Amino acid sequence: MDLLNKLQHQGHELTSRALDRHLRIGVTGLSGSGKTAFITSLVQQLTVGDQPDNLPFFDVVRQQRYLGGRLAAPLLDVPRFPLEANLRALQQTPPIWPPSTQGWSQLSLKLRYKAASGLRAHLQSRSELALDIIDYPGEWLLDLPLLDLSYTQWCEFSWQLFAKTHRKDIAAPFAALLSSVDPQNATELQLQTLTEQYKQLLQQFHQTPGAYLNQPGRLLVPGTLAGAPMLQLFPLLPVQANAASPLSNKLAQHYDSYRKHVIKPFYQQHFSGLDRQVILVDCLSALNAGHAAVSELQQALQLILQSFNYGPSSILGRLFKPSISKVLFAASKADHATPEQHKALTLLLQQLLQQPLKQSQYQAATTEAMSIAAIRASKSGFVQVDGLAQPCISGVGINAQALTYFPGEVPAKLPAASTFNQHKFGFLPLRPLPWQENQLIPHVRMDHVLQYILGDKLR
Ligand code: GDP
Repeated sequence: MDLLNKLQHQGHELTSRALDRHLRIGVTGLSGSGKTAFITSLVQQLTVGDQPDNLPFFDVVRQQRYLGGRLAAPLLDVPRFPLEANLRALQQTPPIWPPSTQGWSQLSLKLRYKAASGLRAHLQSRSELALDIIDYPGEWLLDLPLLDLSYTQWCEFSWQLFAKTHRKDIAAPFAALLSSVDPQNATELQLQTLTEQYKQLLQQFHQTPGAYLNQPGRLLVPGTLAGAPMLQLFPLLPVQANAASPLSNKLAQHYDSYRKHVIKPFYQQHFSGLDRQVILVDCLSALNAGHAAVSELQQALQLILQSFNYGPSSILGRLFKPSISKVLFAASKADHATPEQHKALTLLLQQLLQQPLKQSQYQAATTEAMSIAAIRASKSGFVQVDGLAQPCISGVGINAQALTYFPGEVPAKLPAASTFNQHKFGFLPLRPLPWQENQLIPHVRMDHVLQYILGDKLR
């Protein structure tokens, strides 16, 4: 290479590096909200589904500037999101849903595109965006408020929650077990038994429709921390927590260690590196589960939203300088409802978020809400009822039965408690549609998602 060529080449390298960018998008939501399905679909849309008729609202694809996406080499010290295993699950006969998120994992992509205008279009025929997609349980965000609660306050909060109608009976045996223990003389074995019982109680809550708010998050979804002594943590009954005893002291110590060694580092080392965030919310399952469930979902969302409140007096403002600039709230599994109900679903989600959104001070982040299905499991159409076309969906139920039905209206506003007594919502779970490798994954509005979270970076 002669000198001029070499200089030009080096200049090009430098410009590329200066112009190439890196984006880290977090995907979260409470267990079962659809994170695994979402990331699997998102990656598939970016690597295989980049055709204008599949992603009509994703500008870079519609304008035929997208040159394709491919998986990048994984980081060796971060668990990799199991994309291939998830796709295999969808390819089975009959297809099954991939296993849900269990901890922190990441998948990296390189997206190539032609810039539309500006310096980049002038200097480069091809631009590249490095994209990291990070999956983590929303339950971990529920831990943030613990930084502002003492151990005793947390015990009070927990037992108020466990007194709610949909939790009371489930919590009763654990309350009885705690009452039978003398905190002045509790043995190590009792501590272990109580921890085990509390873990089981959290699991039971987790299986209970509408019991979303389960703390501490790492006891339910431990990630790499399984077995760590600070996870010997459970809320004593308030009267026990308020009286000094070796047991309450020990638990308060574990609580402090958990806050110091789990919650703070999570925010400082992981969360602080995110540029954008997708939060999935399964509103339809909450409606199915009844009024207490919807109110608890709203309460859990309020706590989750504290992680995006960066005002000077916020907990996070004291921990690090945040960089999240966009937050997308997505009502997931919209394919459980007929298409004309999606608008109401988005309005319902907005209403669930409204109070906390108003209260928090989003310094830099802009927010958006939409209804989506990452992996559409139903087909929508119409049936004739008394000569009138009635919207319906068809799909395969979890017991393999073929279904064609109208799942009902989605309320655009939070229904009153009495509505749930008169009406039972029935947005049924469905099996995924049969799918073969390299086929498009059917979706609802993943192109809107892509446009919102990536569109401005691919101009
Ligand atoms: P995670 O726990 O947040 O990772 O949730 P998953 O992605 O594992 O989703 C939980 C369950 O919700 C899946 O097993 C499916 O039954 C259902 N699901 C997730 N996404 C969709 C979707 O787009 N459409 C439909 N119909 N069901 C979905």
